[in-house]
This record gives sequence, C-alpha cells and structure tokens, in this order.
Amino acid sequence: VAPAAPLTLGNRFARELPEMALPWQADEAPEPGLLVLNEGLAAELGLDPAWLRSADGVRLLVGNALPAEATPVAQAYAGHQFGGYSPRLGDGRALLLGEVLDVEGRLRDLHLKGSGRTPFSRGGDGLAAVGPMLREYVISEAMHALGIPTTRSLAVVATGRPVRRETLLPGAVLARVAGSHLRVGSVQYARATGDVALLRRLADAAIGRHHPAAAEAENPYLALFDAVVAAQASLVARWMLVGFVHGVMNTDNMTLSGETIDYGPCAFLDAFDPATVYSSVDEFGRYAYGNQPLVAEWNLARLAEALLPLLDADEERAVALAVQSLGAFRGRYRAAWLAGMRAKLGLPEGLDDAVTAPVADDLLALLQEGRADHTSFFRHLGAAARGDAEPARRLVLDLAAFDAWAERWRRLGPDADAMDATNPVYIPRNHLVEEALAAAAAGDLDPLGRLLAVVTRPYEERPGLERYAAPAPAGSGPYRTFC
Ligand code: AMP
Ligand code: MG
Ligand code: MG
Repeated sequence: VAPAAPLTLGNRFARELPEMALPWQADEAPEPGLLVLNEGLAAELGLDPAWLRSADGVRLLVGNALPAEATPVAQAYAGHQFGGYSPRLGDGRALLLGEVLDVEGRLRDLHLKGSGRTPFSRGGDGLAAVGPMLREYVISEAMHALGIPTTRSLAVVATGRPVRRETLLPGAVLARVAGSHLRVGSVQYARATGDVALLRRLADAAIGRHHPAAAEAENPYLALFDAVVAAQASLVARWMLVGFVHGVMNTDNMTLSGETIDYGPCAFLDAFDPATVYSSVDEFGRYAYGNQPLVAEWNLARLAEALLPLLDADEERAVALAVQSLGAFRGRYRAAWLAGMRAKLGLPEGLDDAVTAPVADDLLALLQEGRADHTSFFRHLGAAARGDAEPARRLVLDLAAFDAWAERWRRLGPDADAMDATNPVYIPRNHLVEEALAAAAAGDLDPLGRLLAVVTRPYEERPGLERYAAPAPAGSGPYRTFC
C-alpha cells in the first residue's frame, strides 16, 4: 500500500523521543478530494505540485500512502487549558507524518490534522470539518505573508467522510508544516513523567532544532529557556501590532520555536479594543486581545517550572535562575512592541523609546475611545503622513484630540512609504473569511481562492480590491468563533 512517493519522511522525533511518540495510522479517507494546495510551500519543501495533485499525492496528503520508511506518530503532550492542568492531551486528531528536509536544508514537520482517532482522542472523534481546516489554511498563510512566524498550510483535502458537529459536515484533513510541533506542553509532559533523562533529551531536541546557540552557552538549558522567552516576547508583540487574537493560548498551543500554532477560534481585530474576545468558549476573557502578553508570560512560567531540574542541581538556585530569565520577558516584549509601533508610525529607527512610547500609547487611547478599525486606521495614517489626514481622521471620535496628536506625530517626521510596508491593507477580515467558508461549504471554492490571493500580498494595495480592505459592514454585529 506504499507507492514510491518522491519525498523522504524522517523519523527523528520518533527516534529521539519514543516515550512521546505513539506510532499510529491515519484513517482511510473514503473519497479524498484536494480542496486547496499551497504550491509555493510545496516548492519550498522540494515537492512537485503536479505530483501532489495526482491520486498518489492526494493520498499522501491524507496520510493514506506514505513512503515505506515513514513512521507516523501521535505526539504526547500535556498542557494548561484555560488555567487548568491536563496531564495527558496529545494529538487527539492529528499525526506527525515525519520530517522533511526543505530546499534550504531546514528540517520541517509534515503533520496532519483531522486524520482520525488516536489513543489521545478521549471523547473526541479525531476528525475535522472542512470549514475550520480551510480557516486555518487562510489565516496561517495570511500570518506568514504578514511576516509573522507561524506554522504553514500545505493543503486541505476533503475526506469524503462526514463529521458530526451540530449538524453533519463534510470532513477534511489539513496538511500542516512547522519548524516543529514541540510545545510548552511537550516539556510539561516530559517533566511529569519524572524521567529527567527524557526531559533532557527533549530539551536537547529543542535546542538542536530551534535554538542551536544555546548549546554553546555555559548553562544550555537556561539559554534554551531564555531563547523561548525571547521568541515568544517577539511573537506576541507581532500579534498585538497586527491585531491578532489567538483565542486559545493554552500551554499546549505555545511552541518552543516561536511559531504561531493552532488556529482555532482566532480572529483579527476590527475595532481596536483590548477587551476583545472572539471565542465563544472563552467565557471570562482569559485570552482577550489585551491579555495576550500576560498570558504568554504565565505560560512561560509553566515552562520554567517544567525545566527546573535541568537548570541547576540545586532547586533554589534553579528557581532563582528561572525567575531572573522570566523577568526579562516584560522588557523584551515592550522593546519588541515599541520597535513595531515606531515602524507602524513611520518614525525613524533611532528614535528614543521615551519619545515613541507616549505617542503610541496616546494614539491607542484615541483608537479605543473611537472603536476605530485597527487595520484601516494604521493604513490610512500613511496617507496622513503624505498630507491627507482625512481618511484616518474619519475613523476616530475625538477630532480635536486626533488633530493635536497628529500635529505632535508629524513633527517627528513620519515616512509614509515605510508605513505602507509595515501596515497591511489586507488582513483576513472576519466577515470575508466567513463569506469564503460559506461559499466553500456550498461547493464554490472561488471566493476562498480570491481571498487567499488578496491576503497573501497584504501590503500591496491593488485596484478593484476595495471591499477586501474595508471594515466589516455596519450592523454585522459582534463576531463569534466556535472552533
Ligand atoms: P486544541 O484546543 O485544539 O489545541 O485541542 C486540545 C486537545 O484536544 C488536543 O489534545 C487535541 O488533539 C484534542 N482535540 C481537539 N479536537 C479533537 C477531536 N475532534 N477529536 C479528538 N481530539 C481532539
Ligand atoms: Mg492544540
Ligand atoms: Mg485546535
């Protein structure tokens, strides 16, 4: 059942961390049908798009026809979900097919989501519906185009098997590509086994794959922790700058690589408001837009706890090292965010943070008060730097306050072209994503294809695409996600 596939799937994770890798097979898809293929990403992986579109290629993309040497596994991990610890989560509807060496010599995980039940499925059916998988595809590829570290989407294949949700929905498998699927929750799992040698092997794997400089440090595991703190501070700053709300920042959904992972109930801000929550299950707003930096810090504290036995033989000393390293998170986050805001405002790179900070903070207060559309406002501010303040001005409430702010800002000499290269015109706006998914569910993939073409070139304003740049139509009501 394994025709020659023109790729090699490594089994490094399964070999190095067998305690966390359960060999498993994907369900047979009764009638696999390719819905969308990422040809650019396929090329990065050295895969021929024409072959991926063939019957054998599509069977690879649902895990039904793998190269002979492949060892697909369900990965074990633990995690804090909404603050509560679960000792055993793991891939309940996913499989790591193996690692692919890309054309630049980087190792990338090829992973499936929606591939059937596994020993980690608990009450779940192991399946995924077409809509949420297409949603992950669009949003992750938009994030990548925005320059934000993220897992990528290679393909979505309809399985031909229905999935029972509130109603029966068509099922699908997403083929996902990542630097790795090592998570904070992976480290928590290894720590909870009590096997320090396993914990060390996992940390070594993370160092080797993502933070090789840590290997040279005096204390490599402390250096690993530092590197994850830095990567996450930078990542979450990027989310905040673009208005991305992840929605389910559980520790099992936070990578060690610093890539965004697990696009479930995520969404982009329309109106700027730190209290924004889209997920229907986030009852108390734990993962609200404005809470994300704090949650990242909280998750990193859980990572530090899990790494303690590796940081120092003396526990008190280990705690002191972890506290000190984690203490750098806020400064790192603030620095990354301020640098990003300086760029969004078109201000010179050397400008002092003490000058940037009040300009940025005062502007956000104005946006929040006026519930201004976040993406449109910053893009229109580029026009204001060219002398036409009206489009941005129209989006705020307190015009006098805006004029005073703009006067201060313009004296700092904003560069409009630089602003256009950093403030996107096109993001996957919630109403556009819903519209494309609804059409796809009805069998029309064209709107999805058009949306992808728009959001994968986010900074390049093009004629005829006005509706993709416009805020949600008035009266569309509060947006809710149900993933
Ligand atoms: P998530 O919140 O999507 O990151 O998932 C949390 C956990 O639930 C992970 O262990 C998933 O594998 C598992 N899970 C989510 N959906 C399903 C499903 N339909 N069937 C089985 N397991 C699932
Ligand atoms: Mg997850
Ligand atoms: Mg999920």
